[in-house]
Amino acid sequence: MNIIFDLDGTLIDSKQRLYQLFQQLVSASTLTFDQYWQFKHNRLSNELILSTEFGYSDIEIHRFVSAWMGLIESPEFLAMDSNFEGVKDTLSRLGSHARLHVCTARQSRESAVTQLESLGLSNYFERLMVTEQKHSKTSIIDRQVSDLAPEDWLIGDTGSDIKVAHSLGINSCAVLSGFMSHEALLTYKPTRIIDSVLAFVL
Ligand SMILES: [Mg+2]
Repeated sequence: MNIIFDLDGTLIDSKQRLYQLFQQLVSASTLTFDQYWQFKHNRLSNELILSTEFGYSDIEIHRFVSAWMGLIESPEFLAMDSNFEGVKDTLSRLGSHARLHVCTARQSRESAVTQLESLGLSNYFERLMVTEQKHSKTSIIDRQVSDLAPEDWLIGDTGSDIKVAHSLGINSCAVLSGFMSHEALLTYKPTRIIDSVLAFVL
């Protein structure tokens, strides 16, 4: 059996990184961490927050997006991420019953490899798949996990993760530890919804 994990919001907590970068790039923002994540849980993108709350023009939003993409995976910001507490125990429990993989939509494979090593997570996984914004998660998993079967699982915190599982014909498990609310995730019809990856059982 294969279990494929999303990275941000699923195995590691990256909310501080995203919030801190938003605050750095938007000097007018006085949003608290909770207010920012309340917007995100209500499915507001950064672009929408910028236009509705801060009156950004299209050009200003375009500038924000390029600056965001340039900094979001920099070592300074990646250092703000941490493992969800207990995630290593969960991975070692699941690793004795299944082959574990990571699939992330990060831009840089190299920085993802370095980060997994520094967080002590790399040894739990057979394969790290990084789309580098050039491939879809569906195509990269389809190509790299050769023995994919309907009883396999994809675990992630977003609607797009669930859609990937549907298109691969495998089970999907949505986690509430990341970027989307229970209500929003339900609309994608995942096989299961759980609080965090720690609650996942086969
Ligand atoms: Mg995620």
